[in-house]
Amino acid sequence: MLRRLFVTARRLLGWALDFVYPRDCVFCERPAGEGGYICADCLGRLSLARNPACLVCGAESAMPGGPDFICSDCLRRRPAFTRAFVVARYDGAFRHLIHTFKYHGGVWLQEDLVRFLSATYIARIAPLGLRFDAIVPVPMQPAKLRARGYNQAALLAQALARDLRIPCRQRLLRRVGTGVVSQTRLRREERLRNAAAAYRAAHPRHLRGKTLLLVDDVMTTGATCDACARLLRRAGAKRVYVLALARPMRL
Ligand SMILES: [Zn+2]
Ligand SMILES: [Zn+2]
Repeated sequence: MLRRLFVTARRLLGWALDFVYPRDCVFCERPAGEGGYICADCLGRLSLARNPACLVCGAESAMPGGPDFICSDCLRRRPAFTRAFVVARYDGAFRHLIHTFKYHGGVWLQEDLVRFLSATYIARIAPLGLRFDAIVPVPMQPAKLRARGYNQAALLAQALARDLRIPCRQRLLRRVGTGVVSQTRLRREERLRNAAAAYRAAHPRHLRGKTLLLVDDVMTTGATCDACARLLRRAGAKRVYVLALARPMRL
């Protein structure tokens, strides 16, 4: 009840602010119109097209055209998640959006970015008839969280959960290690080991039999999501899917 009041109050405040200070588009700086920081023109120009991608890990092929596939990494060793869905390629204007959101205090882009996640969910995940017990953000190192003040994956997960009316459960996964987990120069096995050591899953009684949607902003090598999914499943989760805003094209 209190939460709903808070959401309503915030929305009203948002409208009032829009009226007094119209929002400018993050790209062209003209008034962005209602409820976001991307104007209709710039939204139309934002290319979300991707080349064929891996049906398991979402890695995008460098070759345009042709059907989706299962990549050699996934053929060799299936990740612990069932499938990863990626909104867009991590480059160009979309990369700029995520950068602003993540590194330049751009929390105000939350709504715009969540819209992309919701749209991908509705177009690609909902038709599969899956029912998620919870949405889980990939956690962030406590020291980093203190420095940045927010975990961008958690902001995305919370807003997506609100949109989809699925509970957001931030405590099902914890970040413990301080090491960098997604070092692209490491071998895949090392990356997975590092990543697995950096997270902890909640007690099995919170996870048993659950189908979860893990949310991250940028999925780089996939090692983090793989390790998180593995921990969640080891603790009893039935299935883990991944939804990420972006992923760089496969090298
Ligand atoms: Zn614009
Ligand atoms: Zn793959």
